[in-house]
Amino acid sequence: MGYNRASLFLLSRCQMQMLQTPSEIQLALEENLLRVQKPGRYVGGEFNAVQKPWDAVQTHVALCFPDVYEIGMPNLGLATFYDLINSRPDMLAERVYLPWTDMEAVMRQEGIPLYSLEGKHPVARFDVLAISVPYEQLYTNVLQVLDLSGLPLHSRDRDESMPLVIAGGHACYNPEPLADFIDLFVIGEGEDAIVEIPERAAALKRAGASRSEQLAELARLDGVYVPSLYEVKYHPDGTVADVVSLAETARLPVLKRIVPILPAPLTRFIVPNIDTVHNRVPIEIMRGCTRGCRFCHAGMVTRPVRERSVQEVVEAVEAAVTQTGYEEVALLSLSSSDYTNVVDLVQAVGDRFAGKNLSISLPSLRIESASVELMDALKDNKRGGFTFAPEAATEKMRNTINKSVPDKQVLETACAVYSRGWRTIKLYFMIGHPSETLEDVQAIVDLSKAVLNEGRKVHGKKANVNVGVSTFVPKPHTPFQWVPMDSLDQIVAKQSLLKRELRGHGLRLRWNRPEETMLEGLLSRGDRRLGAVIARAWELGSKFDAWQEHYKHEAWVQALEEQGLDFFFYTHRERTIDEVFPWEHIDVAVKKKFLAQDYLMSLSGETRQDCREQCFACGILPKFAQMRSQTPAEAWECPPVIPKEQRGVRTVVPISSL
Ligand code: SF4
Repeated sequence: MGYNRASLFLLSRCQMQMLQTPSEIQLALEENLLRVQKPGRYVGGEFNAVQKPWDAVQTHVALCFPDVYEIGMPNLGLATFYDLINSRPDMLAERVYLPWTDMEAVMRQEGIPLYSLEGKHPVARFDVLAISVPYEQLYTNVLQVLDLSGLPLHSRDRDESMPLVIAGGHACYNPEPLADFIDLFVIGEGEDAIVEIPERAAALKRAGASRSEQLAELARLDGVYVPSLYEVKYHPDGTVADVVSLAETARLPVLKRIVPILPAPLTRFIVPNIDTVHNRVPIEIMRGCTRGCRFCHAGMVTRPVRERSVQEVVEAVEAAVTQTGYEEVALLSLSSSDYTNVVDLVQAVGDRFAGKNLSISLPSLRIESASVELMDALKDNKRGGFTFAPEAATEKMRNTINKSVPDKQVLETACAVYSRGWRTIKLYFMIGHPSETLEDVQAIVDLSKAVLNEGRKVHGKKANVNVGVSTFVPKPHTPFQWVPMDSLDQIVAKQSLLKRELRGHGLRLRWNRPEETMLEGLLSRGDRRLGAVIARAWELGSKFDAWQEHYKHEAWVQALEEQGLDFFFYTHRERTIDEVFPWEHIDVAVKKKFLAQDYLMSLSGETRQDCREQCFACGILPKFAQMRSQTPAEAWECPPVIPKEQRGVRTVVPISSL
């Protein structure tokens, strides 16, 4: 086995008890797997998994989702990276997931380090450990990954013999809470970066560059943020004063990375041996969204909109189904109704796969009758229910969040859904929007009952409405990044109203625990000082924070207290319009001035239309001007910019200071 001797020595020095070779790990698994639940999580060997000889390639990448196998396996980003890396003859990628608590106990007891499923290689042997972090409740799991791998938690304590630890995903658009632990973040889209970074790092290592020299060089690449090359300065009140670059190669700001045209979709998916949260082929039909919902992080950070052609999608579905045997396909995007040729797509898919026992779903449809016709044409499984997300139930709130769906439209659509045979409608709302009152929350109850009433007209007592109510978290890089979150008391009062009123036959309510929402707010909006809090909460037993049964609120409260910090400062404090945010040096290409104007528009109830109809100069086009000029016009959905004097929307408040 071709591990380098220095890393073997280091592992044996630091982790005397840990097993070191794939054959040792394999043997220990064979002896111990019957002691844990779901051994299928830990064995690999699935259909379409790729196993390359370790010594036949130069660069080894461990791709990690920091949660259990069933949650991580369906992640489309990591599956795509796996395919991209393994299609290179000089590189290999193997998968890593976190063990559940029973397996963790066995691994610690038996000295089994965190290992890759394909080759059973210890994570510490790879050149690069790439961790996907799509949501903030995974932060303590990132520490768990490092610890079980036998790696120091802090970036500053790792040396040349250890893998380069990189992270990316939606929760990294504010990378600061994880800055102490990650060597390098990829900000934005990773399809190119996931090959370029390991390749460049390996070349630097072969040339004898030290770890810090490697990182300084890698910081030159587009979308790369190396936190150790920046210093954060604070005002006495704890707000950020400035972020300064400490190296000539460390850019300021760090502009997100995008691919100008979406590459061909992945079709060779690994087929798991056990059930996962989504047992289906996911094909992304479109990236980005032009609707401009003010609470929506994904809608702001994934601009501009890029689509795949109908032909490309249909061919990908065919190839994926042939290569995997799956009977379910999801055509994914943030807003499927906005896919330009959605009717043609549905028609083409219907023609091609008629009678083939294939269930095809098109999630994230708008609330309108046309969506019902689309779903009906797809012959989607009607037992699954029909999902809509009005998000708010009064005109005032809908204008505030810039998502206008009149009650009449909701009820007409509900009537169409029930009339076409569906018995269950799922409605998603959010509480805690800026300026929301208990009357706005009561309107959620009234609208849900009115929808059920439509169902009763068709199905009688067999009609159902499942209502999911989450609590708003003001996310970075959105127009609502200035907004304070609801306090714990406010959330409890609103949820109590919902629990009291939304009950009875045919109604089901789901909600999030307020304490868990507060953690999401804290970590989403956190600065670099939260690194010590995350490390301490992890020491106190926090992990799997997204799993209700594991969430330990007291650990977070204690960890904050010990660092002299509190929830209020991060989650409930009113921010001035010119406050420097902890994420301000991360540039998602949407201008702060645009976001601030949109926020002020929300306060006066003004809305913006879809920006495919009129460009509002959010900043994307000038930031990517060179890339745009080299990309075919039809590849991006941004229309030509209308000169200021011809625009139909008025600018609400001049924000000259931004
Ligand atoms: S550049 Fe214009 S059209 Fe494109 S995303 Fe921004 S506002 Fe929308």
